[in-house]
Amino acid sequence: MTTQPIKNTAEHLASLRDGRTVYINGELVDDVTEHAAFRNSVRTAANLYDYQAHPANIETMTFESPTSGRRVNRAWQMPESYEELVIRRNALIAWAEQHGGFMGRSPDHLASAVTGQLMGLDLFEAYDKDRAKAFWDYYVHARDSDLYLTYVIINPQVDRSKAAADLNNDDPMMKIVDEDSAGVTVRGAKMLGTSSIMANEVFVAHLQPLRPDEEDYAICFAIPMDTKGLKVLSRKSYEQHAVSQFDDPLASHYDENDALMYFDDVKVPWERIFVHRSPEMCRRQFHDTPGHIYQNYQAQIRITVKLKFLAGLAHAICETIGTLKMPPVADALGKLAAQAAAVENMMWGMEAKGQHWGKYFVPDRHAVYAAQTLTQELYPQMINTIRELSGGALIMLPSSAADFGNPELAEIIEKVQISADGRKDTDRIKLMKLAWDAVGSEFAGRHTQYEMFYAGAQFVTRAHSFRTYDWDKAAELISTVTGRYDIDSSIADLAEKKD
Ligand SMILES: Cc1cc2nc3c(=O)[nH]c(=O)nc-3n(C[C@H](O)[C@H](O)[C@H](O)COP(=O)(O)OP(=O)(O)OC[C@H]3O[C@@H](n4cnc5c(N)ncnc54)[C@H](O)[C@@H]3O)c2cc1C
Repeated sequence: MTTQPIKNTAEHLASLRDGRTVYINGELVDDVTEHAAFRNSVRTAANLYDYQAHPANIETMTFESPTSGRRVNRAWQMPESYEELVIRRNALIAWAEQHGGFMGRSPDHLASAVTGQLMGLDLFEAYDKDRAKAFWDYYVHARDSDLYLTYVIINPQVDRSKAAADLNNDDPMMKIVDEDSAGVTVRGAKMLGTSSIMANEVFVAHLQPLRPDEEDYAICFAIPMDTKGLKVLSRKSYEQHAVSQFDDPLASHYDENDALMYFDDVKVPWERIFVHRSPEMCRRQFHDTPGHIYQNYQAQIRITVKLKFLAGLAHAICETIGTLKMPPVADALGKLAAQAAAVENMMWGMEAKGQHWGKYFVPDRHAVYAAQTLTQELYPQMINTIRELSGGALIMLPSSAADFGNPELAEIIEKVQISADGRKDTDRIKLMKLAWDAVGSEFAGRHTQYEMFYAGAQFVTRAHSFRTYDWDKAAELISTVTGRYDIDSSIADLAEKKD
């Protein structure tokens, strides 16, 4: 047992200075913790660890690792009862409240995914004892080091009408190109490593269905971000293009980043390989363990917080522009509030309907998929409602905080940026700039895309809902009614009526 202290911000920032290969704007990044494209957002994420290490939060946020004795984030915990599930959820909520739900791949997402898969370790053992041992050892290592993981589990789009193996050119797709007694070499790309810039390691898997002959693509492993040959190609940084925190409050500090991950002949040692050349196991590790449920349950917990944040923004905007009491506005806000509350209620429903998976307690499968299917449609609707409620308030704004430095402009701004609720000009502008970054800016647009796709396109999430709904119970309800009559009884009824 160790007395290693709880992971804090300093420990996480130091761990990111590892010589990883990250590119942005054509250049190699020397240090992601200092680069203008990433540094604020990296700190926002890293600060989650100081939050968990704060004496007031230790009990809520952490639990004692059964192997090392170190207190680590509760996302690694495997609940054995409803009560433990709720205790774990409260830790995830507390973290999401630190970023308003805007960091989709905060460390608890992958910790949830890996922990959920590990609850199905017997599946891995039945498949291959060595791979199962590698997975268990990895889980213990990741948990006891309280690692921040990201994942890439989707192939680049290329041509979605064809299977990877049927493409004339499958070079873009990450696949096995060599293997020996030390491990496996992979080459090609995976999308879309959100948070990879600020994570310690990447978990690589294959979620989309593979044909039995697509064995070269069917691998799952985890490697540190500084592994030789792993190249991270960042998308445009919204943080780097932010003018200031006042002007772009979310983009400047909550840009978790997304990146294409290119595996340039990356050698993966056997002790880090959990699935090897098995298309079947690639699917089963997500769907025949609680893995997929736990990762998406975390996402629903997070979005609960984000929708509440958006509802709060909408209310504040309407107060500011004096529309709050107008019946159609109150009506729209009432609907927004109901939507946000419905999602929170669905989260409680997943837990209340949860069941045991062996000794572990798992949120209800269909309840998670129902929430996922609905929230990916709800999110853009709610964003649109807030835009509708705001009018030009989100645009009639100073070009930047620098306008206040010009006395002539500052005087006009003070005269014009008046609020119905009496808030002063700078407070009004602060609110509206935050709202624009949440619903209208390029950062906001990426968030809409994220919420629509992080769990798969609609046809995918609806298929999960279709697959897991209790259709037998639904059919039974129909039979209960139709069982009470048949054609003979109806003919007899008609005859009776005639008499
Ligand atoms: C902001 C963002 C962050 C992301 N972060 C990550 C991450 O961290 N890790 C990760 O692994 N992935 C990540 N993803 C990828 C995400 O998982 C995928 O976007 C998602 O699974 C959908 O796959 P796709 O983008 O290839 O879209 P596609 O599957 O190509 O679908 C695009 C559209 O094409 C149509 N379509 C395609 N195929 C069919 C079909 N068979 N039937 C009917 N219609 C079809 C539908 O209209 C669909 O909406 C992220 C995505 C986004 C947008």
